[in-house]
Amino acid sequence: MEKLSDDRRFYDISENFKEISEKIALSAEKSGRTASDIRFMAVTKTVEPKYINHALSLGLDLIGENRVQEFMGKKDELHLDGVEKHLIGHLQTNKVKQIVGNVDSIDGVDSIKIAKEIGKISSRLGITTDILLEINIGAEESKFGFTPESIGETVYEIAEIEGIKVKGLMAVPPICDNSAKNRIFFENMHQLFIDIGAKNIDNISMEILSMGMSGDYDEAILMGANMVRIGSALFGARNYR
Ligand SMILES: *Cc1c(COP(=O)(O)O)cnc(C)c1O
Repeated sequence: MEKLSDDRRFYDISENFKEISEKIALSAEKSGRTASDIRFMAVTKTVEPKYINHALSLGLDLIGENRVQEFMGKKDELHLDGVEKHLIGHLQTNKVKQIVGNVDSIDGVDSIKIAKEIGKISSRLGITTDILLEINIGAEESKFGFTPESIGETVYEIAEIEGIKVKGLMAVPPICDNSAKNRIFFENMHQLFIDIGAKNIDNISMEILSMGMSGDYDEAILMGANMVRIGSALFGARNYR
């Protein structure tokens, strides 16, 4: 692939940002909300700091990184004043120590074991770490996450863990060949979000429903997402996933 000049990439990112923001606003309105109800997360994996900083200069205030190592390596070069940082990828137990205290939220919490570890390290540091619970909404064997069937019970156990606060749910639905199928996964996620919220459990608040990526964020918003995670549609195609 031909390497684009920096100017060209900055320009593309600006244009993409405008286009995505407009689409977010439109979907928000269609679902009875406004653009300000939807958080736009820039997913920054594999993206060099200069391009991330350009995106931040456009007004983005939320980034998501997948890998602890990569985030720790890049963060000092990023203009992060007033910017919320989330870890969104699967987290290994032995990496928890490095990341707790360095991000505002850990979004891909996919087991009790990892929730407990985050709680333990946070308590040791005297902080509380916000987390989202990742739901394996398509019940895919290849994916991490709580099953939709089990989370209704498991959430009570998670509520007891000190040092963490559950702020909502996150999902990466299966890749679907049609949007009707996709919509059902989003709809099921929204229902879980409502049902768990209705339990009124201490330490569990359903404020954030993070779903929808470059290919389907508009659909996700229509189905109730209030945080969308956008990488390639903003920054261009990645070299690795
Ligand atoms: C990479 C990634 C995204 C963004 O994917 P795009 O399709 O490039 O928008 C969103 N969420 C998670 C968990 C990711 O790993």
